[in-house]
Amino acid sequence: MNFKRAVIKVGSALVSPEGKGCSGKYILAIAQFITACHQQNKEVILVSSGSVAAGRQLIHHGSPELAIQTKQAMAAVGQTQMMANWQRFFDVPCSQLLITHSDLKDRQRYNNIKNTLRILLDNKIIPIVNENDTVAIEELKVGDNDNLAALVALVSEADSLFILSDIDGVFTKDPRSYSDAKLIKKITEITDDIYAMAGVTKNHIATGGMKTKIEAADKATENGISTYIINGTNSQVFTQLLQHKNPGTHFVAKQEYAKAKKHWLKHTLRSNGELLLDAGAVNALVNTGASLLASGIVEVKGNFVAGDSVNVVDIATAKVIAKGICQYNANDLQRIKGCNSENIQQLLGYCSSQEIIHRNDLVIL
Ligand code: GLU
Repeated sequence: MNFKRAVIKVGSALVSPEGKGCSGKYILAIAQFITACHQQNKEVILVSSGSVAAGRQLIHHGSPELAIQTKQAMAAVGQTQMMANWQRFFDVPCSQLLITHSDLKDRQRYNNIKNTLRILLDNKIIPIVNENDTVAIEELKVGDNDNLAALVALVSEADSLFILSDIDGVFTKDPRSYSDAKLIKKITEITDDIYAMAGVTKNHIATGGMKTKIEAADKATENGISTYIINGTNSQVFTQLLQHKNPGTHFVAKQEYAKAKKHWLKHTLRSNGELLLDAGAVNALVNTGASLLASGIVEVKGNFVAGDSVNVVDIATAKVIAKGICQYNANDLQRIKGCNSENIQQLLGYCSSQEIIHRNDLVIL
């Protein structure tokens, strides 16, 4: 098992093992693993739970059943504690992204998140994502960080998702009740039987449990992302991961995904505009597998927003040679067409992406 870009989801049970503030007990080994990944030029995005658990003892509360407003206040104070706790273990800077489901549903915001993550990773900054618990009402929430981590893996185009909790992986039965329960090392198909094996969590600190982990694995593997459920309380697992061994349950990624994405781009997505390219750009796209840069664009037609699909046309032959998802809207593209990528910032006052269409978002016709 090898990876280039991974999302690592760390559960509350690891951030705040006692449910009373943050602790370095398990976080240290996780941070060391992330640092070792960086040394191997791997990119890591963290999705960290624990804000509510970290803020728990700082807000007066009565019964163990917490009111939503109480949890939101705990999240507000716990989030900064949790971030500070992570930062202690890294020499590189950490950054905070608080998002909700409604942010991921909105195309413009989705793109903003995607571009921010890319720039942070390019600058060797660790993105730490959590749900914006303080502002989100139930209907607008992802609700648990397992599913949130799967969505972050999609936005960031990660190839792997590691879900770290305090259990070794998926078992044939609940290992806390049955001594003959066996760890399932590899799952190629997430069937109803697999869901049936997922009991309700007994850990009162965590939100998810095995069900949300399997849901997350389902989402991620459908989209070509290998997923692992791993016990983050055992520091040995990180040594194994660095040796490309699987210490937990591996959900195998669906290989059809890359094909499906190209199919979707080609056949399903309606184009809202056209970019006319010079010969150099046509050659780069068709023969060298490059992304589309502003310098090769001669003309921009149509009215589209960033994130829309556009046709890519060879100006010499007037033929559509490719289709892809454009990172800029039509107006802004009019202003940067033909320019060197380094000048985008100066011309627009922002540069959300050096590429106008990223290779992964492009299909040659
Ligand atoms: N966002 C919640 C927190 O920071 C955790 C949700 C979860 O663990 O699934 O406390």
